Amino acid sequence: MSSGNMLSDEDTVNQPRMPGEEGEGVVLKVYSGQYLVHLDVDKVGSLRTLNCSLRGNLKKNFTYSTSGSQPRRVTKAKRPLSTDAVAVGDRVRCTRIDDETGIIEEVLPRSSRFARSGFRGATQTLVTNLDQLVIVFACTEPNPDLWRLDRWLIAAESSFLEPLIVANKRERVTQEAFDAVFSEFTALGYRVIATSARAEIGIEELRTALRGRISAFTGPSGVGKSSLLNVVKPGIRLATGEIGGVTFKGKHTTSVRELIPLETGGWVADTPGLRQLELLSMTREELAECFIEFRPLLAQGCRFRDCKHENEPDCLIKLAVAEGSISKRRYDSFLVLAKEIK
Ligand code: GDP
Ligand code: ZN
Repeated sequence: MSSGNMLSDEDTVNQPRMPGEEGEGVVLKVYSGQYLVHLDVDKVGSLRTLNCSLRGNLKKNFTYSTSGSQPRRVTKAKRPLSTDAVAVGDRVRCTRIDDETGIIEEVLPRSSRFARSGFRGATQTLVTNLDQLVIVFACTEPNPDLWRLDRWLIAAESSFLEPLIVANKRERVTQEAFDAVFSEFTALGYRVIATSARAEIGIEELRTALRGRISAFTGPSGVGKSSLLNVVKPGIRLATGEIGGVTFKGKHTTSVRELIPLETGGWVADTPGLRQLELLSMTREELAECFIEFRPLLAQGCRFRDCKHENEPDCLIKLAVAEGSISKRRYDSFLVLAKEIK
């Protein structure tokens, strides 16, 4: 075993310690054609990273064609295109070269992919393999906009991500005021964690909810997302600005997409693009399915198979609204969003 390497047997089972050994991990960061890979470790709390490049043939397979009609100068801009080959969140198999570096041999299949349209019509992958969307709102300042909260919930549902609602600045409001806003969502079956980054309320609960999963934080600005991450983050051994040290030298900017590893296990995606996530293109039928309280009724079926749940007779959704089992507010939210996707 190499002497510069301080890893103990206990926490590095099945990991590449010697040059040429192979292992698996998660891509934390993509930077100038290099990939910071967080190797899997058995012991919670350990952090082992390798600065990896891509195996040559892998790169070729992924690189977008720059031949044909593409003007030559486009090749200058090939970085944002080719980085899409491997994205933050990807699980990869890699070979160790030395203590700090390695080569990515293979990208394992993705369970999900968040992308936005990027340079020259190419799609830019923001993050892959997300498990959970943490939707942060403040109890006050800014006051929670329930319509926006619905919008995020729908975005999560439509991407098959589990939403987790975090109601921050909890210390600023009474229990009554808190319940008045958020009990609606608990009643729907969503999990709501009340937190205060300032008074350190609910932080342990939040940490537990993040454990072992890849989560992305989203929500309006000013609600306390950064503050919460900073309170959660003492569990992180490596400050984000320090990741990669020498090899990833250069300025750390917040626009860099990365996963922040938590000491308790799990990762938080710091992906600014996700904060402006828009409703993905979907049909009205799919939208209705994203309202979880509509689902049992949709399964039952309204009188008309293609019911728009608007003016049709014997519409189960409208009936439920009239009876009060579906809230008028959520139904109105559905109508507003339905108009948007038309
Ligand atoms: P972001 O835009 O969502 O990242 O929000 P920030 O983390 O920048 O926080 C916005 C403002 O809210 C800052 O002035 C924070 O100090 C403040 N803030 C964050 N969390 C709390 C909290 O739990 N309670 C109170 N009272 N203020 C908070
Ligand atoms: Zn209907």
